[in-house]
Amino acid sequence: MENIKKAINKYWGYTEFLPLQQEAMECISRRRDSIVVLPTGGGKSLCFQAPALTMPGLAVVVSPLISLMKDQVDALTECGVPAARIDSSLSFDEQKLVFAGIHKKTIKLLYLSPERLVTDSFIEILRKVNPSFIAIDEAHCVSMWGHDFRPEYRQLGQLKDIFPKVTIGAYTATATEQVRNDIAEQLRLSNPQILVGSFDRPNLIYKVQQKNNITRQVCSVIDRHKNESGIIYCIRRRDVESLSAELNSRGYRTAPYHAGMSDKDKKANQDAFIGEKINTIVATIAFGMGIDKSNVRYVIHTGMPKSLEHYQQESGRAGRDGLEAECCLFYSGGDYGTWKNLMRDMPPEALEIALIQLNGMYSYCTGSTCRHKAILRYFGQNLNKDNCKACDICLGGLDYVDDSLIISQKIISCILRLDQRFGGDYTASVLTGSQDKRIMQNNHDKLSTYGLLKDFPKHTVHDWIEQLAGQDYIEKTGEYNVLNVTAKGWAVLKNKETPRLLKPAEKAMKISKAASDSWEGVDSGLFETLRKLRAAIAKEKRVPPFIIFSDATLRDMAKKRPSTIENLLNVKGVGETKCR
Ligand code: ADP
Ligand code: MG
Ligand code: ZN
Repeated sequence: MENIKKAINKYWGYTEFLPLQQEAMECISRRRDSIVVLPTGGGKSLCFQAPALTMPGLAVVVSPLISLMKDQVDALTECGVPAARIDSSLSFDEQKLVFAGIHKKTIKLLYLSPERLVTDSFIEILRKVNPSFIAIDEAHCVSMWGHDFRPEYRQLGQLKDIFPKVTIGAYTATATEQVRNDIAEQLRLSNPQILVGSFDRPNLIYKVQQKNNITRQVCSVIDRHKNESGIIYCIRRRDVESLSAELNSRGYRTAPYHAGMSDKDKKANQDAFIGEKINTIVATIAFGMGIDKSNVRYVIHTGMPKSLEHYQQESGRAGRDGLEAECCLFYSGGDYGTWKNLMRDMPPEALEIALIQLNGMYSYCTGSTCRHKAILRYFGQNLNKDNCKACDICLGGLDYVDDSLIISQKIISCILRLDQRFGGDYTASVLTGSQDKRIMQNNHDKLSTYGLLKDFPKHTVHDWIEQLAGQDYIEKTGEYNVLNVTAKGWAVLKNKETPRLLKPAEKAMKISKAASDSWEGVDSGLFETLRKLRAAIAKEKRVPPFIIFSDATLRDMAKKRPSTIENLLNVKGVGETKCR
């Protein structure tokens, strides 16, 4: 580990490990198979890149996309690490050069696609050079349970037959246990060490707001991020086109991206975004896989995604560099209908799962539980703090009703009067005094709780019921989401607990930037100057700006203002080669 630490400092300019990086590297150096599950931005690449430098021989890295391989190899080259890739975009001469490097043992890390790795000719080459280990990046691609299954990844199961002694490390951000087990099985790993990090991304500030004037709402977010990069997701292609055009006509620099565009146009717009020729990309969810850009400062959703897993994936593209970034979600009840419509032709079993996920997403939007807590809970993890200081709920950007205790007691009493045998919609109807036939037939208009909340619209009462469920005062059970009162709910009736209910009026989203340490002591004028210099260098070298230096490194530089070589080397993210 001492050698690995030295290498990290020398080549990357980092002096500390991120959580679980050290453990992951120890697996490789002790030659134990491993599965490393860390969130996006968790620093998975370093887990295999650093040991590759200190171990004898060549490390092989499997990656699903040319764009990912290219970015990583470019980044390594900038750090002075001898790395190369073999893919179909290289000319014959370029490939010959790489093969020569492999034979002369001047390359430490070789990136390639799974299908190329298992070709006979390549296996022959590997037999001769004896790889130090094999790293499988984006390893969830091997599993049909993951969100991005790639059949080519299945062939990687052969590796253990061909090279029984070679250590394999698998890396992914996909959290479910099913995918994890599938990776171990498909890759035939032997007694792998499984390392799972926390999925919380404390630097992401989550906000949710109902849609009213979406263009105005979007602009107010972008205006907080002048000259910074961001992604805007829309549900439909035509919304992508119209929003991008509208923003451009207002003087913002954006470009569209969706699956209906030609490959050439898509690539041009993606490159313009990565190269920072435009600030904002307006896209459907077709955009994002294979984007390693580390300084995305905001992700806006102009509609509700279809599951919390999708939301975590898409919003997770913000703030990979660990600096604060904003994730704003604008939703409406109409989005729910749009998705239901799009799901119409699904087979019944798949539809059932899709609807459960859609309902979960909607509860997240209407809920008043800390957003970090809600997302983590979805992935079966706990947030070990009461206030995340990075979501609309905890930052207090929301308005709560003053008499939430009384309203909650009315709702809970009504659920009990209904013998805990009905769902949220029916309960809301009873509380608002609906003349619905079913209610009359059941004689529920005779209940003492009938019409207790008739001064509020039904959808508001329904939202409150969702919020109570989100805070565990009631729970939804069974196939029909029948409402039951929990022990915590009973405590509300005894005035021992007070739930938080949101005002039905438009929620405020005016919290500007969260109080953050990352700007403390940073000369922001100098940061801007350095950013322009970075753009110029990137253009000259024909690589994306974030590969020259990350935002985190530029900020540290603008804070430390180094004037000697020694001090420059002390800046986080400046290794020897970049220093030179
Ligand atoms: P992942 O693949 O897990 O999404 P990356 O490997 O792309 O994450 O790393 C995310 C960011 O974190 C990169 O900008 C990387 O340089 C940075 N990083 C990685 N390890 C460290 C570390 N030990 N200290 C500081 N920054 C790090
Ligand atoms: Mg990665
Ligand atoms: Zn919170």
